[in-house]
Amino acid sequence: MKKYSYLWKNILVLAVALLFAAVAAHDFLAMRTPEPVAASDGLTRVAKLSEYCANLKGTVGDEEIYMFDSGVPGGTFLVLGGTHPNESAGMMAAIAMAENIEVTAGRVFIMPWTNTSGFTHTSPLDGMQDLFTITLKDGSTRTFRVGNRLTNPVDQWPDRNYYEGTSGRKLVGTETAEIRNVNRLYPGNENGVLTEQVCAGIKNLIDRENVSIVMDMHEGSPEFFYLDTTMAHERALNVASLMAMDMGMDGLDMKAELSGQTSYGLSHRSLGDNTNALMTLMETYNPSMGPLHGKMDDDLIINGNEPNYYQAHLDGYIYYRVKENGIPLIERIARHIVCITKLKDAYNLYYPEAPIEFTCLGSYDDMMKLGLEGVFKPVK
Ligand SMILES: [Zn+2]
Repeated sequence: MKKYSYLWKNILVLAVALLFAAVAAHDFLAMRTPEPVAASDGLTRVAKLSEYCANLKGTVGDEEIYMFDSGVPGGTFLVLGGTHPNESAGMMAAIAMAENIEVTAGRVFIMPWTNTSGFTHTSPLDGMQDLFTITLKDGSTRTFRVGNRLTNPVDQWPDRNYYEGTSGRKLVGTETAEIRNVNRLYPGNENGVLTEQVCAGIKNLIDRENVSIVMDMHEGSPEFFYLDTTMAHERALNVASLMAMDMGMDGLDMKAELSGQTSYGLSHRSLGDNTNALMTLMETYNPSMGPLHGKMDDDLIINGNEPNYYQAHLDGYIYYRVKENGIPLIERIARHIVCITKLKDAYNLYYPEAPIEFTCLGSYDDMMKLGLEGVFKPVK
């Protein structure tokens, strides 16, 4: 009889473990469903990245590309959101654009979840949360994911001890996990690891569709030196500088910086060196990404207010001018969309032979008045 009591104890332990696993599996599987997008009437096609890198077919990296073609000949603007899924304003600005853009010359392509796999997990032991919810004007809600800056190890494993990317960037020592970072593996490799295949898909998309200009939207922790800064490949520096000046005239801080000559694998360097597109990358302030942030919750993600960072700024430890009431998500989304709109204006001055014309949510002040609840549309 005694030996059977051990059996029951073992079964009990297994049953409890299975119960926890089932609850966790439900949560993890929910993160594999992309946010619905209520695309604007101008949407002409939703393409898949596997059309540009066949090896992505059937993988988590086979992501959607929202294509808005005016039907009027011109240039093509590619907008990348979600290269780093924990930098929420990137994905949110891309979705807001897809829901509100009206293109009247050339084409605009929007990829809200550039590292789709990164959206399926969060950073372990960082107290991260996986989702946040906003309420719209009509009272309905929309929920968005907060992911990890790297590809999920479930989709790409193990990280190699030594790796040399197609850009020549070597990943060794503490950098080995960066083999899962989309923004280290450009121009990519169609037969490489999943993250490299995504990079190769984007490079092929730029080549085959003759993309004129690209914005890769990012956010940085308050400690980062390049906030409110647009990195630009040398061929894009005139356009980015004009955009920065234009933003400055609207009272919005913006710097244009030349992409580092050895920033191998990063979009603004390695896609600029290996395609004809003008490459740019912009960063906004995100206090939920830095080590000084307090409790991670919807309030921190949506309102971007972390008193520790305000104090650190007052004490002279944070160079960035942190505002007392923080920098909410709507402000960071507006900054990205205004930056892209003004990049388009600057591009048209330099390249009038291949124009790109669109309107999207108006000015920075217009978006601030609309708020998150007005910028996003209800979904069924
Ligand atoms: Zn980033």
